[in-house]
Amino acid sequence: MNIHGIDAFTGEAIEIRFEKAITGVDPLLSRPEGKLPLLAPGWVELQVNGFAGADYCDPHCSLEDIDRSLRAQFATGVTRLLATIITGGEPEITGSLRNLAAARESLPHGHAIEGFHVEGPHISPEDGPRGAHPARWVRPPDTDEFHRWQEAARGLIRLVTVSPEWPEAPRYIEALVKEGIVLSIGHTKATGAQIEDAVRAGATKSTHLGNGAHPTLPRHPNYIWEQLADDRLAAGFIADGFHLPASFLKCAIRAKGIERSILVTDAVSPAECSPGDYRLGEVDVELLPEGRVVVKGGMRLAGSALRMDTAIGNTVRMAGVSLADALTMASRNPARVARIAGRRRGLVAGDRADIVEFEFDAASHRIHVRRTWLSGEIVHQS
Ligand SMILES: [Zn+2]
Repeated sequence: MNIHGIDAFTGEAIEIRFEKAITGVDPLLSRPEGKLPLLAPGWVELQVNGFAGADYCDPHCSLEDIDRSLRAQFATGVTRLLATIITGGEPEITGSLRNLAAARESLPHGHAIEGFHVEGPHISPEDGPRGAHPARWVRPPDTDEFHRWQEAARGLIRLVTVSPEWPEAPRYIEALVKEGIVLSIGHTKATGAQIEDAVRAGATKSTHLGNGAHPTLPRHPNYIWEQLADDRLAAGFIADGFHLPASFLKCAIRAKGIERSILVTDAVSPAECSPGDYRLGEVDVELLPEGRVVVKGGMRLAGSALRMDTAIGNTVRMAGVSLADALTMASRNPARVARIAGRRRGLVAGDRADIVEFEFDAASHRIHVRRTWLSGEIVHQS
């Protein structure tokens, strides 16, 4: 198979040859008539709790629903994802992981689920940093419990979000890092010293920095500055226009630098559905017409209805970065930080043929995904 287009990173006209992996990328010598589409490596999503009606945190989520959620994400340019499970009782967490691991094996494009992100339950119990996670299931870090999750997940847990405020946190982080797990700091009210201890123990990332926090904080010091200033931490950002104001997103990306910034959607099952009432685990939520997902009866955000192509366009608009930089934050950076094999270099021979062909309207900052390939197989065509 070969395709022609403009390399979205360099602006050069290129031809990509591929089978399951990219076999060659060459400059296009004779440029065909008409406008060429843009080409980029498929987006990599490290935090998605559900999509298009599928709730990954529901142990009984059906194969059909999971399949539909994957196809809906291919249409947004996502090619690899860490399905994300939030705070719950142990049977719910292991049940969801077991269900998703089985779906990954049996669905035709199940391998788009690269692995799992467990966000919680070892987070802050306090209102504010806890976010929309149910308080009654918050508990201290427990390595034995992690091993039971990992068994249910067939060894596919890749990322765990934990709050360093627990005295057990440094030892827990150290133990999981030894097993090849990426540890992320999130939903926390940790002090600077606790964050430092977590980083020394091996944490390398912040989970949706700027969210999962108190509505009011001391101006300094506080846990957002501590994480922003630490060059050993990459950071995920939810660029839906509701979770973070443009000024924060712009400053945070400048503080972290492009290479340490990662776009995540934190999407939940109502994403790509009609506005109305939904249930996420034991929490009643509402998708509002403007696209916010809130805990029913209030304005507390409960994940998002964001698509990754929209997140990329929003980041260009809100943070003032180039399209190439925003694409880096949605492809190579998450692949590198989550150590996703065959996806760390981009459009280069040898990397997996996960490719997005798209158009970008610079005036509206809208991306239109035309075609998506997953390991060389076409999985979306508009
Ligand atoms: Zn969260």
